[in-house]
Amino acid sequence: MTKEKVLVIVPHPDDVDFACSGTMALWSKKKEISYVITTNGEKGNHIGKNKEEIIKIREKEQKEAAKTIGVKDVIFLGEKDGEVENTKELREKFVRIIRKKKPDIIFTFDPANNKFDSVFKYHPDHRTVALGVYDAIYPAIGNEHFFPHLIDEGLRPHEIKEIYFYGGENPNTWMDISSVIGKKIEALSCHKSQVSHRKNFEEFLKARYAEIGKEKGMKYAESFRKLEMPQ
Ligand SMILES: [Zn+2]
Repeated sequence: MTKEKVLVIVPHPDDVDFACSGTMALWSKKKEISYVITTNGEKGNHIGKNKEEIIKIREKEQKEAAKTIGVKDVIFLGEKDGEVENTKELREKFVRIIRKKKPDIIFTFDPANNKFDSVFKYHPDHRTVALGVYDAIYPAIGNEHFFPHLIDEGLRPHEIKEIYFYGGENPNTWMDISSVIGKKIEALSCHKSQVSHRKNFEEFLKARYAEIGKEKGMKYAESFRKLEMPQ
């Protein structure tokens, strides 16, 4: 039986590890997982380096984090950090990679988010990538009249089965990540340029994922709003 394919599309290096790397660790042997990182996070500069150095550092950190989780395929789309716009070009990039990878399941930020009660969560790239991916999924990925030149590249229309949105207000799916919390912490710790200055990082993470699991009786959990696509 062929393995189900999962595509995680995020704005920045480290987003995937905060959002869903526990779930990816649970699935890494059962499913074929790819990460798509829309920008290189070159403005995430806490380390006094220039742009080119930061791009290299953050790519390396994300690849190491993915390896910790058991994910080998990490793709960078090279958009500008902090300046992502939901243009036709961006949607074409998403449609191209989705048709190429043919996932059954896509993970991304929740476009229904509009509480603006946290500056980190509502980073403009998070909101834009969420909408861009949503718009790419429907109707463009499954319709040959969108970006018809992609057909010439052999990228035929494709349908997915499920979307898992994270960071939203109305989760309906909890994943028990208690058995892999160590791996998740290890993956997040790979993003040294972003987290090495943070005090009590491990305690902070444990408290955060324990809080998510609390209402479902799970020691540590990740939560999502799962949307099933009409078949
Ligand atoms: Zn981010």
